[in-house]
Amino acid sequence: MTIRAGLVGLGKIARDQHLPAIAKTDGIDLIAVASRNARGDGVDNYPDLGAMLAGDSGVDAVILCQPPQVRYAAARQALLAGKHVFLEKPPGATVSEVDALIALARRQGVTLYASWHSRYAAAVAQAKAWIAQRKVERISIQWREDVRHWHPGQPWIWEAGGFGVFDPGINALSILTEIVPEPVTVLSANLEVPVNKDAPIGAAIAMATASGAPIDALFDWRQTGPQTWDIAVETDNGSLLLSEGGNTLRLDGEIQMKAPDEEYPAMYRRFVDLVGDRAIDVDTAPLRLVADAFLCGRHCPTTAFED
Ligand code: NAP
Repeated sequence: MTIRAGLVGLGKIARDQHLPAIAKTDGIDLIAVASRNARGDGVDNYPDLGAMLAGDSGVDAVILCQPPQVRYAAARQALLAGKHVFLEKPPGATVSEVDALIALARRQGVTLYASWHSRYAAAVAQAKAWIAQRKVERISIQWREDVRHWHPGQPWIWEAGGFGVFDPGINALSILTEIVPEPVTVLSANLEVPVNKDAPIGAAIAMATASGAPIDALFDWRQTGPQTWDIAVETDNGSLLLSEGGNTLRLDGEIQMKAPDEEYPAMYRRFVDLVGDRAIDVDTAPLRLVADAFLCGRHCPTTAFED
């Protein structure tokens, strides 16, 4: 059976990644788009999700690409209508919302998929296998990028529930919680919040593995010039560096893999399989680390930031 999908929120990630990835994935077709401002080519168009669900669109699955603040209401609406749901990351604005969605998807007997695209970066699986054979001694994360380049004209990202620098930072945490084979906890955090914004522009987070290996993470949105998406892991038997957001792998300084980004096609293959089994795949570990950093972190006001 080919899944007939409807996409909601025709913004940057929908156009850059979802549309091309769906087009090259067997087992799923895009038949409808719900957008307040745009129109999808060659599909039925609706002004919002409610209209898509009420109309005779024929969608079996709904792909939610809006900002996190509105994801819960939309996901609930789609699940209650008996649709399978694909959630962009982060899967919600709060942990309790996502837990409620998991319970609802179970009751409805449909698929709920929390997509963590960075986990599908080319070198992540190999890094995970390498770490599984060793004892982790220290991890250092640097996720530093230029917000003006990557998030122009996105006011929601600076508002409460928009995550600020944790919008990219949660990608690092999704890789961390995939490659480290034991629980990770947050010890402390410093969150730098511009005086004219609700969400942080910079964050320093101290974490640890359950067996005590320290993990430090630095997220910064003020990086101009070369951008940095690195995770360095020291073990009892060598060191690993994942860079380019998980697409490049170095072991003891020697490059092992450098592959192009194929994250979204891999996620859609996963979604097709999940829908075939009516299965749920929602890991809240990255979101819980963000929530914990906000819970125990010091919120430090910093210079106003103009986009
Ligand atoms: P975006 O360009 O601002 O697009 C979001 C779209 O959601 C808007 O264009 C709008 O589409 C719709 N929308 C519905 N309610 C909205 C509201 N209250 N405020 C603003 N937009 C609303 O954002 P994006 O970069 O695509 O990011 C969307 C989600 O994807 C975020 O959760 C983000 O973390 C995730 N993501 C983004 C990237 C990236 O590189 N940009 C990468 C991975 C994941 P309509 O006008 O069609 O209604």
